[in-house]
Amino acid sequence: MDKRVAVVTGANRGLGYEVSRQLASRGVRVLLCCRDAAKAEAAAERIRYENGDALAFSLDVTDAVSIAALARQIEDNFGAADILVNNAGILIDPEGSRVLDSSFDTYRQTLDVNLFGPLRLCLALVAGMRENGFGRVVNFSSGLGQLSEMGAGTPAYRISKAALNALTRTLAAELTGANVLVNALCPGWVRTDMGGPQAARSIEQGADTAVWLATLPDGGPSGGFFRDRKSIAW
Ligand code: NDP
Repeated sequence: MDKRVAVVTGANRGLGYEVSRQLASRGVRVLLCCRDAAKAEAAAERIRYENGDALAFSLDVTDAVSIAALARQIEDNFGAADILVNNAGILIDPEGSRVLDSSFDTYRQTLDVNLFGPLRLCLALVAGMRENGFGRVVNFSSGLGQLSEMGAGTPAYRISKAALNALTRTLAAELTGANVLVNALCPGWVRTDMGGPQAARSIEQGADTAVWLATLPDGGPSGGFFRDRKSIAW
């Protein structure tokens, strides 16, 4: 059987790099999609050094042109992507910010990366998965996007992740029976540039649930929200 092909956004560092590394170690061919071409190549090289199959691709999730180029490259070389990991994300709410004192630009920028980024990638790649009868879409959400736990603070980030959860459920429902499984996860609080050095979890732990969702067998869950491979409330 041909190797599975995975697209991972924000793959140069943090959770995106670790998910790419773990997928490659499981025999998946990984396209590391990063804003900075040199960082993408350096990350791919590190994975190849561990005998993984990794290719670098220059991609900004806010840039439709780079996403169209990715879609063309995938169609020409592989037919379709098998796995899409929407990992790239930003948290730019200033410390202590509240809905009423946040700038509109903070909302706009955050939604552009955290919601419209994954949506753009889905629009570019998921039709090919459906045609192929195989796909796994993994959306990096956050406990801060849980409506059941929703509270004050970091408003742009919370809103973006709650909306990403809505995208996850809607798309999953629309793909019922297509063998394209669409799920969201919270990685927990992880020691990355975003999570900071005080975070409770290692990057390896944080990546585990995403890798599990990316490699689900046929008939696996779809339209769910997971942490530590267990379903959590929306
Ligand atoms: P990091 O800040 O360490 O890494 C973020 C990654 O996203 C970087 O590779 C960055 O690229 C990339 N990125 C940002 N903007 C864009 C863009 N426009 N186009 C392409 N790539 C972009 O974050 P983490 O690894 O910690 O987080 C990964 C995901 O996990 C995020 O979606 C985050 O919201 C989520 N998450 C993280 C938690 C944590 O505790 N760490 C907790 C809950 C959720 P560049 O290097 O070019 O900036």
